Amino acid sequence: MRFPLSMTAGMAGYILKNKLRPRPEWQKDLAPKDGASNPFRILHQPHTGNGVAHHPMIHKRFPLVLMLEPLHACNLTCTGCGRIREYEDSITQRLSVDQCLKALDECGAPIVSICGGEPLLYPEIGRMCAEMLARNKHIYLCTNGMFVKKRLHEFKPDPRFFINIHLDGMEQSHDLAVERKGVFQQAIEGLRAAKEKGFKVTTNTTVYKETDMRELEQLFEYLEQFDVDAHMLSPAYGYSAVNDREIFLTRDDVREKFKDIDRLARRFRLSTTPTYLGFLKGDRELPCTAWGNPTYNVKGWKGPCYLITDAHYETFEELMTRTPWESYGHGNDSRCEHCMAHCGFEPSAALGINAQPGDNWKLLTWALK
Ligand code: SF4
Repeated sequence: MRFPLSMTAGMAGYILKNKLRPRPEWQKDLAPKDGASNPFRILHQPHTGNGVAHHPMIHKRFPLVLMLEPLHACNLTCTGCGRIREYEDSITQRLSVDQCLKALDECGAPIVSICGGEPLLYPEIGRMCAEMLARNKHIYLCTNGMFVKKRLHEFKPDPRFFINIHLDGMEQSHDLAVERKGVFQQAIEGLRAAKEKGFKVTTNTTVYKETDMRELEQLFEYLEQFDVDAHMLSPAYGYSAVNDREIFLTRDDVREKFKDIDRLARRFRLSTTPTYLGFLKGDRELPCTAWGNPTYNVKGWKGPCYLITDAHYETFEELMTRTPWESYGHGNDSRCEHCMAHCGFEPSAALGINAQPGDNWKLLTWALK
């Protein structure tokens, strides 16, 4: 099974509860209709562009996955990483375990993706994950894999705990993307050790302009020997914190890259939903629902999303009530023009926004496979 049953059932129950009783204070639109609040705005679109009113779920905002960055320090300087650049002045700071747990309690998301920086550089990562599991949360620990072997003894295997290892290609391409030789081999050693000890392990791949999709197929074939639990895929997006814009994709590039993704999805266990893959290959449109994946880090709650920073808020409540959500997304803000990133659109897929007939069945069979 792609996900543990507890995760699929828990998520379905959580979504249903929030669909039926959305918090009214989180649903208010703040952007004035003349579009004056956002200096980068092109125009505010009250409709989807083809004359169809926004899906009602757009106004049922609630978080699904907390993107938690306990620190921004990292042992690598990957080409496409914005964090080590945007947070250069606070790179030595880190959140306390209590701050991380408070953020999780505050937003109430059922899943937490612990990223960074490199979370395995965080001294109390083992204790923090144990505390989160005790709160019945599901965890994705997103790591470059280099310290997995060294710190594995600080964790216990749990069906709700996934070690998510970053791999952008086979050895040569991956080491080039992370700008250091030997990283791929070390990540594979960590992956092997984690699987041998009974941990759930997934991989996370960012697709850049230079990515050869046939090489990703080769990568997934290679990983079959380790019985990796699932593979996550997302197109890279060139937001302002990253200088090298040459490596990022336009919407047309993304659709070209993902046009044959169904073949990969049939062969390998992808954790990317079929709905989101449909969006990536151009079969459907999805709106941005960045509120579904809120980001918390040393500066506070980052608004509006993982990629763009217009503000940091002290509380989750402020993020939800003071962000003009309807000002963002394709057609509303020039910075969002080519964004099709996982963090902005996977929540739309999970919530059934712009659903097509048969989607629910497809999603259920996919999740249980
Ligand atoms: S489309 Fe959404 S996720 Fe992407 S940059 Fe804009 S606000 Fe962020």
